[in-house]
Amino acid sequence: MGKGQWAIAVQGGAGDIPIDLPKHIKEGRESALRHCLHIGSSALNHSHSSLHVVELVVRELENNPLFNAGRGSVLTTEGTIEMEASIMDGKTKKCGSVCGLKTVVNPISLARLVMEKTPHVYLGFEGAEAFAREQGVATLEPCDFITPANVERLKQFKESIRVQLDNAHPIQNEVKVEARNADGDSQLGTVGCVAIDLDGHLAAATSTGGVINKWVGRIGDTPIIGSGTYSNTYCAVSATGSGEDIIRGTVARDVAALMEYKGLSLKEAASSVVKNGAPECKFGLVAVSATGEIAMPFGTTGMFRACATQDGYSEVAIH
Ligand code: ASP
Repeated sequence: MGKGQWAIAVQGGAGDIPIDLPKHIKEGRESALRHCLHIGSSALNHSHSSLHVVELVVRELENNPLFNAGRGSVLTTEGTIEMEASIMDGKTKKCGSVCGLKTVVNPISLARLVMEKTPHVYLGFEGAEAFAREQGVATLEPCDFITPANVERLKQFKESIRVQLDNAHPIQNEVKVEARNADGDSQLGTVGCVAIDLDGHLAAATSTGGVINKWVGRIGDTPIIGSGTYSNTYCAVSATGSGEDIIRGTVARDVAALMEYKGLSLKEAASSVVKNGAPECKFGLVAVSATGEIAMPFGTTGMFRACATQDGYSEVAIH
């Protein structure tokens, strides 16, 4: 595919996703991803910029409580929410990032405003909330983001830690916590979108509530440019999974660097980063290149993902 053809990829979280995922979760997420492909593809067909499209798609996913971003954000250990998001324009390398949000309905749009209306890249916590008020973006009370499903997930997560601690070997005291709830549903459900538009410009956007039971004040990979999100003239990347591993591996930037400095194709660069980026590889990513190539590798058992290209190809997959 040459310049002038659009392509888009969307992710709805990577993690320990069981094969026998309950039907309502599987179908709900698949149809949301299909819907996102539809709105993203039609915006690209209508010559909208990739920057506009990645924001549009991520907003859609933030508004859907089936995903861990915006309305569906998972809870901190204190039962609160702290949302984070970032966006990057590959052509200009302009980027914006927010974290520690408690009231902003669409963190990705605030990240874009940071990129376009401030001299900075990152805004967090009180400063980001104050900026949101100043810009007049839609907000809600913090409690409005806390879904009953996430209250239950936190309760069960804490209970599973307690049980594992009780059963841990007294000397080794080793506890391995699986991020699951009673539904067998993965809690690692960040959202992201990457796209190349008809002008050949790339963009990436990622948004999340972080990880369940995270410490108050914990910042993950999603708002960190070069870790959870990156875009330049080679590719656009959005990562998901264990944030600490993604940060240590500078995952999104590494994909671009392997293309830029080693001349690898997108697929080669992305799978090399997922294979070698971290010891246990508990993450995945979606990426699009300047030639319209798409890569969606993951080292977890699954990753909610979807992609489409201008020539009519489209795919929605989990495992
Ligand atoms: N990467 C996110 C974080 O660690 C979680 C996820 O992708 O689901 O905050």
